Amino acid sequence: SPNKKQPDGQRISVCVRKRPLTHAECRRGESDVVTTPSGECVTVHESKEAVDLTQYILQHRFYFDHVFGEESSNEEVYRKTAYPLVQHMLNGGKATCFAYGQTGAGKTHTMLGSSPGVRPGLYALAVRDIFAQLSTMRTHSSLLVYVSFFEIYCGQLYDLLDHRKRLFAREDGQKVVHIAGLRHVRVDSVSSLLEVISQGTEERTQGMSGVNPLSSRSHALLQIQLRGPNQQIAGRMWFVDLAGSERASDTKEPDRQSRMEGAEINQSLLALKECIRSLDQEQSHTPFRQSKLTQVLKDSFIGDSMTCMIANISPCHLATEHTLNTLRYADRVKEL
Ligand code: ADP
Ligand code: MG
Repeated sequence: SPNKKQPDGQRISVCVRKRPLTHAECRRGESDVVTTPSGECVTVHESKEAVDLTQYILQHRFYFDHVFGEESSNEEVYRKTAYPLVQHMLNGGKATCFAYGQTGAGKTHTMLGSSPGVRPGLYALAVRDIFAQLSTMRTHSSLLVYVSFFEIYCGQLYDLLDHRKRLFAREDGQKVVHIAGLRHVRVDSVSSLLEVISQGTEERTQGMSGVNPLSSRSHALLQIQLRGPNQQIAGRMWFVDLAGSERASDTKEPDRQSRMEGAEINQSLLALKECIRSLDQEQSHTPFRQSKLTQVLKDSFIGDSMTCMIANISPCHLATEHTLNTLRYADRVKEL
């Protein structure tokens, strides 16, 4: 498919990030089947067996707004993905940045960073720029920064900054969605943001038993709000670390709970794709209500919102099928 060039100020950008093979994968002798021939192209080399049992390689090529190879740093990814969204937010706009992909493909590395204080991810890089610009813009000197952080698990909301308190999303008379009782914490520096996030992340991993970590089964939503002196919202941005996309295609799960989780994730990721696609169209039937995720993010799919999706992929040959699924999903989000 030809690369559709969009003008500056585009509202949707879809990017791919390939992570390197991990040390463990290297030790096991696993191979890297993904190449990134240019900053806009990614190729998956799939090993196939012909009817006469000879091996051949099938190449799958995809084009995106940006493709980041394994050598790309979080800073570089930030520059081309969240940075324009942060500018939009500082101008009073709404913006949403998604990390999509299979568990282990690098979503959290991208969003949170690996050792958050040392190698920051998009959350911290965005907040760094927000504080830097607030301090230099005379018109913005009275704005305050608030964050909230919650997760959606099986269609239910839990506040990660308030001991996993159950939360409820409601639409008011103007059809605006509110999350009643959500805790908003004021932050005044990057380090205070990281402190708040690390508390929330701890809540996320605690108290979960079972084989799959909760992070693969729930969506984590971080919201950053700029507020004026009367608490009026003067810009907002979401960062969404999505549930593992492989969970949406896992229909062979042994127990009922896991099958239910998978069905819920499948539903929300399909609804998300439709809602993002509808952003660029004159469409009045955006399916917000088809999942809790898209209902909560309703505001992100209307008006002057900007959206960026980062599809994270593993280079490992064992992940080929999931990698192709991720690229096909991202391709569908992009193609209008
Ligand atoms: P996910 O959140 O999608 O499940 P993680 O972000 O936890 O995946 O990444 C899985 C592993 O791969 C972690 O050990 C992480 O540090 C490593 N990793 C992911 N992306 C990168 C990258 N771009 N560079 C180096 N290591 C990475
Ligand atoms: Mg993760």
